[in-house]
Amino acid sequence: MPEGDTIHRTANALRPWLIGEMVRSAWGWDDWIDAPSIAGHVVSAIEARGKHLLLHLDDGRTVHGHSGMTGSWHIYPHGESWQKPRRRAALVLETNLLSVVFFNPKTLELLTSAQFRRHDYLARLGPDLLAETIDLNSVVARFRNANHKPIGEAVMDQTLCCGIGNIYKSELLFLKNIDPFSSVADFDDDALLDLFELARDLMQYNLQGPKRTTRFEGDGGKLWVYGRSGQPCFLCGTEVHISRQGDLGRTTYWCPQCQDRAERQVPTNPNYRDSNFT
Ligand SMILES: [Zn+2]
Repeated sequence: MPEGDTIHRTANALRPWLIGEMVRSAWGWDDWIDAPSIAGHVVSAIEARGKHLLLHLDDGRTVHGHSGMTGSWHIYPHGESWQKPRRRAALVLETNLLSVVFFNPKTLELLTSAQFRRHDYLARLGPDLLAETIDLNSVVARFRNANHKPIGEAVMDQTLCCGIGNIYKSELLFLKNIDPFSSVADFDDDALLDLFELARDLMQYNLQGPKRTTRFEGDGGKLWVYGRSGQPCFLCGTEVHISRQGDLGRTTYWCPQCQDRAERQVPTNPNYRDSNFT
């Protein structure tokens, strides 16, 4: 599953080649959308919202793509061979200069302006942690409505805030010594604000690429815990654990020693785990 910074990088890569460009021809396999109707139109804007990529057309329609686990956007100069089979191309937009190809999407829709405005899921998305400006206090307020949730699930809930996937979830919670199974209610507003500021900083840093990292020492390791189950924690040597979390069974990597609940302040209300704070 791509993280929010993946989609922002994709948007940044596509903009110079597509914005203001006329789509000469458009097609795709498996009839995801009426691709040929895009031909003759100009891409007026490209937007990343969390893990969603939006290509706005000059006639008010919007191409909405979500990559899911397998999707990816590629750019190919005409005549260059593709890295994936053509039958995996759900959408191909050809301009005078190149082809933009969306392979293996989870979601691909062509929305009218009315459908875009009323889009149920897009409308419910929380603030994007990589938006140019963001009021992180409004993100904290959203999390207060999810006080009962384990924090490892809440940070992945794109209706609370957009952009955090499995990798950032694991890394952020490790960096803040947070037990992924503790409730949002365990944390005061300042602690949450601190967590979102770190998320935004790391994702902004990684927009530059080339390889995502949350570690800045010289030992070559890019990530603290993600993908390292069974290996020693870089800080304490304890084996990094992997657990499944939430209804979708998302993977969480964590160090049971460094992310021990007992090391943090917990609320005095003994019933907080059973309470629904909404
Ligand atoms: Zn550790």
